[in-house]
Amino acid sequence: MQECGRCGNRMDGRYRFCPWCAAPLRSKLVEFFRPHPDVEPDQGRALRVSRYLGARSEERHVRFSVWDEDGVAEAVISLDEPEADRLARFLLEPAGRRHRPRTVWDRLGTLALRRHVP
Ligand SMILES: [Zn+2]
Repeated sequence: MQECGRCGNRMDGRYRFCPWCAAPLRSKLVEFFRPHPDVEPDQGRALRVSRYLGARSEERHVRFSVWDEDGVAEAVISLDEPEADRLARFLLEPAGRRHRPRTVWDRLGTLALRRHVP
């Protein structure tokens, strides 16, 4: 049994969309990534990233799995949305630049310093 996140009706698990309100019940985006071509031990493997787009925050997560050449998942981990966002920012950092998370307090501190400079 599963419950619709929009209308709250319950139904068995065979539906992809709620029969009462048409809300998507299981929606996810899946993408496969190839390994680096020059890293020999990784050849034949793939990274699968599944982004689950549930209606409730506890349903939304990003799942990473490493698949071997036989199609078997060797390792799996799920990240919640804030951690997945942090990973996305990490990957977008220019290569070679030192990573330092910028918070709103960093920005406010920068503004405060600018104001006090004569
Ligand atoms: Zn519904």
